[in-house]
Amino acid sequence: EYVILNGEFIERSEAKVDIEDRGYQFGDGVYEVIRIYNGKMFTADEHLERLLDSGKKIDLNIPYTVGELKQLLEKMILKNKMELGIVYMQFTRGASPRNHAYPGADVLPAFTAYTRKAERPVDSMKNGVKALLIEDIRWLRCDIKSLNLLGNIMAKQKAAQSGCYEAIQHRGDTVTEGSSSNIAIVKEGKVYTHPATNLILNGITRRKINEICHENGIAVEESAFTLEGLKHADEVFMSSTSAEITPITEIEGKPVGSGTPGPVTKSLQDLFEKEIEKQCGN
Ligand code: PLP
Repeated sequence: EYVILNGEFIERSEAKVDIEDRGYQFGDGVYEVIRIYNGKMFTADEHLERLLDSGKKIDLNIPYTVGELKQLLEKMILKNKMELGIVYMQFTRGASPRNHAYPGADVLPAFTAYTRKAERPVDSMKNGVKALLIEDIRWLRCDIKSLNLLGNIMAKQKAAQSGCYEAIQHRGDTVTEGSSSNIAIVKEGKVYTHPATNLILNGITRRKINEICHENGIAVEESAFTLEGLKHADEVFMSSTSAEITPITEIEGKPVGSGTPGPVTKSLQDLFEKEIEKQCGN
């Protein structure tokens, strides 16, 4: 199994990172996860552009173009014969004697990437999942896909401990996003999702869903909704690279709408499936 370390392919067991890597010590870096269907990456350009963008937002210069990164990742997918899975990649601000301020320009970012087998969560997508609510305690730059995920992992852990699949975060009354997903509600046939501000990660899946809505005459509004709106929604779903479009059918022990995946969520899933087939074949 090959991984990428600073642009080179090596065996995973050979990969070493410095104990003073800034990703390791400060969470000082950015990352992406891209899904692989039929050996091909889905929405790779969007993910890689977001990666470069996240880098810029933290003054981390990623010394590759989208095209160069894509070529490297495609090569790794081929080498590892990965058919259905994910590719994970991250750039940190590199290794240097521990000091909060950035190191000099001579310290190069550390780049690692690997592939991993991952089934599609077909059961959850079909039957829906449970979620709980949790106050969003994260910082105010959730638009950056940074390695700092403490708020996210603590929220997810609470969900896991309660037998829930996802934690829906809210800042006061306003619903922001899941611990590792975006959240949307459906009310009277219309989809509502938090606007792409500093309070959420602008999910690639979320963007694809919005596009699909526009192309197929499904009403969609990028405006924040409240806990009350969530409670009275006809349908709720989460979206992410790994979970795709997963219906949330129970929140805090209470059924959402009818308690089963709703019609708008189901048609979005069908349309999303067609997008996957279009880009990656079937
Ligand atoms: N929001 C957060 C906090 C995430 O970690 C993720 C991704 O895992 C998402 C949203 C969904 O983003 P995407 O659809 O690009 O995977």
